[in-house]
Amino acid sequence: MVGYIYDEIFTMHDTAEHIENKNRVVVIDEILKEFDLKRYNVKRATKEELYKIHEKHYVDWVESAYDNGYRMILNEDTILSPMSYEVALTASGSTKPIIDAFKRGEIKRAFLNIRPPGHHAEKRTGQGFCIFNNIALMARYAQSVGYKKVMIIDFDVHHGNGTQDIFYEDDTVFFFSTHERNNYPYFTGSEDEIGKGKGEGYNLNRPYDDYCDDETLLKLYDDLPKWFDFDIVLVSAGYDLMMDEFISTAQISFEGLRALIRKILDFAKDKPIVFLLEGGYNLDSLAESAKITVKELIDY
Ligand SMILES: [Zn+2]
Repeated sequence: MVGYIYDEIFTMHDTAEHIENKNRVVVIDEILKEFDLKRYNVKRATKEELYKIHEKHYVDWVESAYDNGYRMILNEDTILSPMSYEVALTASGSTKPIIDAFKRGEIKRAFLNIRPPGHHAEKRTGQGFCIFNNIALMARYAQSVGYKKVMIIDFDVHHGNGTQDIFYEDDTVFFFSTHERNNYPYFTGSEDEIGKGKGEGYNLNRPYDDYCDDETLLKLYDDLPKWFDFDIVLVSAGYDLMMDEFISTAQISFEGLRALIRKILDFAKDKPIVFLLEGGYNLDSLAESAKITVKELIDY
């Protein structure tokens, strides 16, 4: 069985007409109804858990930001609505029931249809449509229950600068990211960012040029670190690299995506693996991409 997380609460982070809006998770949930998935209930993150990945003052600021009159974080990219804090807490915290289910041996694979996304949220601030870093919280929670070494793979078309930032000096979490070189967030994601201190050698960026095709992308995944002895694989699944997306020039086809998912599953071998939704803004392309991912998780 493949585990699945979705709840109406994820529609309540109200961004109106922004491209990162509630329709994204609604269309995914609709298309996934054809599969028999093991649904888990959402759960909130605690502030203590968030303090392990974000600076305390940032978490506390978000908690009261809307009531204090703020309607965005940093700039108009990252909107705050009345429910945004609650929804962001739930997006991050809903990674925990999946880890618990892995631990109990109920499932080995899962897909998290959650928002707001998380991979641009750095220690000291959210940005790029992201409030809290969901995959980072999941990594720390997984470690707390015994999955000591965590492999994070990020195929969103944008660099996962937040995840890189949080684990940059950490040798227990390996961060691997492929992304479009000349795209948001612009100033991170180069090949020479390899980690620092203990974390040196545990951060690997493989940026690509504009108009990336299937073959080019798939080849970059030959560089996944075969020597890193991980206990679990977490994937930042951003579908904004697909050819019908308007936020990048990447030209990845559905067949290319399927091959990518298979390559990642090959790499994970028998270890638990979970895909967390990050980007993806063309609703048709997004839904189909999620469907391909889940189908591979079931069939592979
Ligand atoms: Zn993205």
